[in-house]
Amino acid sequence: MSLAHDAPTVRHVARKRFGQHFLVDDSVVAAIVAAVNPQPGDALVEIGPGQGAITRPLLVQCGRLTAIEIDRDLAARLRLWPALSVVEADVLEVDFAALATAQGRKLRVVGNLPYNLSTPILFHLLTYIEQVEDQHVMLQKEVVARMVARPGNKDYGRLSVMLQWRYLIEAVLSVPPSSFDPPPRVDSTVVRMQPLAPSTDVDAALLGELVSVAFSQRRKLLRNTLGRWLAARGFGVEFDLQRRAEEVPVREYLALARTLRALRSS
Ligand code: SAM
Repeated sequence: MSLAHDAPTVRHVARKRFGQHFLVDDSVVAAIVAAVNPQPGDALVEIGPGQGAITRPLLVQCGRLTAIEIDRDLAARLRLWPALSVVEADVLEVDFAALATAQGRKLRVVGNLPYNLSTPILFHLLTYIEQVEDQHVMLQKEVVARMVARPGNKDYGRLSVMLQWRYLIEAVLSVPPSSFDPPPRVDSTVVRMQPLAPSTDVDAALLGELVSVAFSQRRKLLRNTLGRWLAARGFGVEFDLQRRAEEVPVREYLALARTLRALRSS
């Protein structure tokens, strides 16, 4: 299958401001593609295809792909690939619902994300969770540690709770700096994120607020943070506040958010 009409004659110089670290390790690329396991007909969307390290093998297996790239020069090169639909844009401004509608099916999102934007991109994708089948993204190892952390772990925090109640999250691959050109200063991890059935009785904004308050001073007991917040709002609820935020499992934060929602509308 011929994918590219251009053999870039001018070498692209990595742009720091776009977090460009290009994968140059074929075994890592193969492992990412195996984790995604693309099937013909999948609505694949790649965030930041760069020079196409992952794009190429994905296209071979899937036949078509939408690529979102902010770098004008890279986007121009990618446009020469006939099977690729290139969206030259900042991913944070892309309407994934429109992409899913255009494809007529849920999206499978893939990306070796720019590290400086990884958390904003995750929260942007969260707003389109209903249009997403799954996500395989590469992020800084420390961010992934926070995403998958369980209660009692030092990495367990707002990011863990706000993602774990919406997705099943699994670290699938560790990637060292030497797999990139230029090498980043940090280790990377690829995660698989699969949307969970929505909990329609939870107010996401309310949950976000109470979790932020709970973790605002993680070393303090909850009675000094969440307890005050609850009291100020007149919420009298049964909740063990003699704990630290990091000891409370996701399901208990969800239960509290459900209770508060019910109290507010009663
Ligand atoms: N996928 C390529 C690879 O693995 O070799 C490149 C990965 S590089 C870490 C991140 C890519 O995201 C770059 O191509 C960069 O230009 C692109 N990018 C950075 N910020 C972006 C944004 N806000 N919207 C879309 N693409 C962005």
